[in-house]
Amino acid sequence: MPPDLNSEFAPDLTALDYQPRTRVVFGVNSIERVGELAKSLGARRVLLVTDRGIVAAGHAGRVRALLVAAGLQVTCFEQVQENPTTQCVERCVEVARGAAIDAIIGLGGGSSMDTAKGCNFILTNGGQMKDYWGIGRATRPMLPLLAIPTTGGTGSECQSFALITDEQTHQKMACGDPKAAARIALLDPALTLSQPARVTACSGIDALAHALETLVTRRRTPLSLIFSREAFRLAIAGLPRVLASPADLEARGWMLLGAAWAGTAIENSMLGAAHSAANPLTAHFGVVHGEAVGMMLPHVVRLNARDPVAARAYAEVACAAQLAQPSEAPESAAEHLAEHLESLLQLAGLPRTLDHCGAKPEDVPRLADEAARQWTAQFNPQSVTASDFERLYAAALTPA
Ligand SMILES: [Zn+2]
Repeated sequence: MPPDLNSEFAPDLTALDYQPRTRVVFGVNSIERVGELAKSLGARRVLLVTDRGIVAAGHAGRVRALLVAAGLQVTCFEQVQENPTTQCVERCVEVARGAAIDAIIGLGGGSSMDTAKGCNFILTNGGQMKDYWGIGRATRPMLPLLAIPTTGGTGSECQSFALITDEQTHQKMACGDPKAAARIALLDPALTLSQPARVTACSGIDALAHALETLVTRRRTPLSLIFSREAFRLAIAGLPRVLASPADLEARGWMLLGAAWAGTAIENSMLGAAHSAANPLTAHFGVVHGEAVGMMLPHVVRLNARDPVAARAYAEVACAAQLAQPSEAPESAAEHLAEHLESLLQLAGLPRTLDHCGAKPEDVPRLADEAARQWTAQFNPQSVTASDFERLYAAALTPA
């Protein structure tokens, strides 16, 4: 579709002050550069934060060996858990304190990178995770962080937020500070080949959701749209290919880069109602984040398409990906996009309806109430109240 310079998405005179916080290094086998890149941050003694799956895949040992070969001392914390809790972060801090480290490397999925960021907050600024819940609460400098994602998913490597769950209340706390952002994101598609199929599916859908939610939020800007559009372009083409051919290195690269640009878009535009609706499903039914987001996303696209500006944004990317025709009404193009998302969920082997996770109609009011109180809900293009979320959950509850 030719660019429409008269649309709301055209470059305008909105003031801009953009300082990327994260250097992005991308390339097959770029992991070989980890020692040189860590040293460029002034590192001599690093903490490598990762999980057992990454150790078992051989990545942690390889990264450690590369760092040692570059003359660095390495201490490892390998006990990262999925959806890291305050307790997980505290254990990581204990290991870091004993090693007098001067840099942190997060290696793995979003959980490893979030734990690394959480550890950085407490190690350098003291206190507890809840002290950093919100934005910009760290007053002292933080250690340089190098983030190495092994999934094409969260985009945490390009964000200044750590998502840490309170061990006691189970509340997911978004702790953000510009200083917490990784100084370098090292993106090597070869590292993502080891992802289990389910992780590929969940993290890939999540990356796609990040591209689509950031595309339409109230906070979107001409700048954030650059990243949302490019993230969508890469992920919409890459996801079916990595699902069908896990060894497809080119498509793995698209997903990894797409996820990083989607993370950059979040940093500049925030998220929307699919993430608000997903969090209560994770909290109450233990649904994996990407799976929960995936179930809600097509319904949120349909809801948001009632907003003419959002509908045009969806139509633009749907046409660019040849999911719709430029001659179609934007609402119709958005419906094609929602249908395509449903077909991708099917291809990924992910559930499309909430009954799969055990949710029942009587759970809807409580879920909707919690979703409406999520931070991300306020950035959705359409105002979403608890009764809107009730309708969203009801639509997602059972097969159409
Ligand atoms: Zn997400």
